[in-house]
Amino acid sequence: MKFLSDIEIAQQATMKVINTICEKANIPDQFVENYGKYKAKIDYRYLQNELKDNEDAKLILVTAINPTPAGEGKTTTTIGLGDALTKLDKKTIIALREPSLGPVFGVKGGAAGGGYAQVVPMEDINLHFTGDFHAIGAANNLLAAMIDNHIHQGNELNIDTRRIMWRRAVDMNDRQLRHIVDGLGGKTEGVTREDGFDITVASEVMAIFCLSNDIIDLKEKLGKIIVAYTRDGQPVTAGQLKANGAMAALLKDALKPNVVQTLEGTPAFIHGGPFANIAHGCNSVIATRMASKIADYTVTEAGFGADLGAEKFIDIKCRKTGLKPSAVVIVATVKALKYNGGVQKSDLGTENLEALEKGIPNLLKHVENITQVFKLPAVVAINKFPTDTDAELKLIEDKCKELGVNVALSEVYAKGGEGGIELAKEVLRLTETESNMEFAYDLDAPIKEKIKSIARKLYGADDVEFAPKANKEILNFEKLGFGNLPICMAKNQYSMTDNAKILGRPTGFKITIRDITISAGAGFLVALTGDIMKMPGLPKVPAAENIDVDVNGKIKGLF
Ligand code: ADP
Ligand code: MG
Repeated sequence: MKFLSDIEIAQQATMKVINTICEKANIPDQFVENYGKYKAKIDYRYLQNELKDNEDAKLILVTAINPTPAGEGKTTTTIGLGDALTKLDKKTIIALREPSLGPVFGVKGGAAGGGYAQVVPMEDINLHFTGDFHAIGAANNLLAAMIDNHIHQGNELNIDTRRIMWRRAVDMNDRQLRHIVDGLGGKTEGVTREDGFDITVASEVMAIFCLSNDIIDLKEKLGKIIVAYTRDGQPVTAGQLKANGAMAALLKDALKPNVVQTLEGTPAFIHGGPFANIAHGCNSVIATRMASKIADYTVTEAGFGADLGAEKFIDIKCRKTGLKPSAVVIVATVKALKYNGGVQKSDLGTENLEALEKGIPNLLKHVENITQVFKLPAVVAINKFPTDTDAELKLIEDKCKELGVNVALSEVYAKGGEGGIELAKEVLRLTETESNMEFAYDLDAPIKEKIKSIARKLYGADDVEFAPKANKEILNFEKLGFGNLPICMAKNQYSMTDNAKILGRPTGFKITIRDITISAGAGFLVALTGDIMKMPGLPKVPAAENIDVDVNGKIKGLF
């Protein structure tokens, strides 16, 4: 049998026009704004007016063990589970992040699911979709232009040009732009200074976009962005530069959730896509809430593993919005567990029960985090790959059952919704009981205590050390009145520790916080455990080299 690639499967699908999908979901046509035949945006006024008193759907959060180079399949599982719930006659809407062009042209490829669990049109979704990220980049860069213009025009706010925190943004992996000098050319050409670009998904505008309840809230949050400090150390905001109104104006259409369909016709909102390290890593609040008010079940994904993505989903997004998952799915694969058990990437296709067993504690730590720290019901979804052996699959299942951990095999990649029925039934069972979600820390605890709570409870660390720079910033932020913000941990995604090479379930380690930065508009403090790359580069052979388009506009080479 020939295995079809993701794009081949997607291009064979017969899509319905998007209005039919919206009609099935009972979204009134007056709120559907078409972007071609298969994509639409839904006006947020639908949420603000018609939907506002509707009951919330049962929210299902999909997360995973620590990511590995083998790929875990959170997006694939989210889509397949959505289709399985639809098959069981449950009114379901999926909510996902929009892919960034950085990974699409870099190493990772697309982010629209895989196999028979995909959202379509996958080429459009992966290749700048409805233009939201460009709008976010434009809003980011408007603010940058207004800062430099303010300085050029006399610097009334007394901005310290050595302490400008705001950088420019573009949605591309372009290491050439990481560090630049701009404003060259003389007196009339701006003020010369060191500057740089971040990828758009790392912009605070993206984080704000995804945490805003509506356009007015967006505008207010944009106004709170700290762009620089004055010569005497006072923060200067986007509001003081009077930039936030125009920034929000640029975002008025982008803020409307995009709707597309899965291969099986389940509606999917794909909207926003912040980084999961220096930001919170999940789709927009508006999309999650709109999905939740329309459907009876909403399935959504959080980036990276449960130590980062699910933690921020709960401690930041849920806390700020009142959203609450009714069940959590933790995706694991045989390959990823073997990798955590010490197997090299090239050997992951060979059966190895011993290494698999050694990797399982990583999974169990994530399960404990969800059930014991956040007090939410969880099920492990084993995302089946063609190379998995029956003995390997049975070993994970047996181990989970032995420890009282709910587990279901998921074959959505090979079979679509049909392959997710067992998982969907287990999820439905879990959502039947009310849960009392808890957070990992209280907002009024001191900053250091909040960070220690996360490190101890979720990572299993003994303690946290703070570098001098971090100590200084903590004092500064507490003095400036930002001590009660939630924490956004910027840690590598591969390890529970701050060393990406230590896999499995480590114990007896400390986490070091090197620096703390603030996203005052998004409303969180970012605790950095190491250097976080905010502008990735392309690999030696970028995925872009294989992407092409034919005379009819048909795309190939995306994966
Ligand atoms: P995540 O959301 O966790 O990053 P994705 O769902 O995007 O993961 O999947 C990552 C990659 O792995 C995709 O290219 C997808 O096609 C592939 N993949 C996912 N699940 C399977 C599977 N069961 N078998 C084979 N390939 C898979
Ligand atoms: Mg994903």
